[in-house]
Amino acid sequence: MSQPTPTYRPPNFAGIRTFMRLPHKTDLAGVDIAIVGVPFDTGVTHRVGGRFGPEAIRSYSMLLRGHNSVLNVSVFEYCSAIDYGDLDVTPGYLHESHRQIEQGASKLFANNVTPIFLGGDHSISLPLLRAATAKYGSLALVHFDSHNDLGHGSYGDKDSHGTPFRRAVEENLLNLDHSIQIGLRGSNHRADDIQISRDLMDVITGVELHEMGMPAAIERIQARVGNKLAYLTFDIDFVDPAFAPGTGTPEVGGFTSAQTLQLLRGLQGLNFVGFDCVEVIPVYDPTTVTCLLAANIVFEFMSLIALQRKNNQTQPIQR
Ligand code: MN
Ligand code: MN
Repeated sequence: MSQPTPTYRPPNFAGIRTFMRLPHKTDLAGVDIAIVGVPFDTGVTHRVGGRFGPEAIRSYSMLLRGHNSVLNVSVFEYCSAIDYGDLDVTPGYLHESHRQIEQGASKLFANNVTPIFLGGDHSISLPLLRAATAKYGSLALVHFDSHNDLGHGSYGDKDSHGTPFRRAVEENLLNLDHSIQIGLRGSNHRADDIQISRDLMDVITGVELHEMGMPAAIERIQARVGNKLAYLTFDIDFVDPAFAPGTGTPEVGGFTSAQTLQLLRGLQGLNFVGFDCVEVIPVYDPTTVTCLLAANIVFEFMSLIALQRKNNQTQPIQR
């Protein structure tokens, strides 16, 4: 059973960094949760540096402890977890890297592991969804972001971090009747940018989310996704740059870290088959608060998985 090294022995700032000091393993037998880095940032249209996201999120995960007091679940009582390391990529070559990412991720889904991917830019969600849907069929998308990432192309290439969900729609990877985008805001290229999203799936814009508040939004997401198999993708620029400056295309007028955690905890009971947290760029994160928040977001994902197992009467792991 894979468990983290206990905190303080040795001190949590000592040793080689894995996520929450989980064992670094690639053997997937008996594993429930795998933390997986995807250090790829060739898909960006503005700031580079997301390739260093996984390493930095791991570093600040050292402050996490195993019990989620709000959801009332001890993650490692219900889940065997590992740090799988990073998927292989080829910097500078998006399409080759996407093939590598899809191939790497497929192994995790095929072995019934629930993976949590650390980006990397948002273009990685496309190969991750290809891998997930090969196992599960089309998935309800729960997409937190300032941007709809439904672009048709960037700089003459059809793929970038602004296009993954356009491709996912075209490839029928998404269960659109049960998908939702949350947090869209900022200035747009065109007058119909929000309508383009609404024509495909449900949308709670950033302004609407501020007006309706977190509890109403949670109800809406729960109702939309229902009991369908789902994939959660979290672009860190959903969060206001005051709380998460370390990202590539920041948008003001966003959400606090507290609101973010409240929303994620409200997603308990949904059937997520995988998660990603993307667009963290450590070099723009001078106080490390973005990396710390990303590590906590990943911990909430882990807690949601553990809570599902607890509520499904999975027996606690004996230690
Ligand atoms: Mn974004
Ligand atoms: Mn995005």
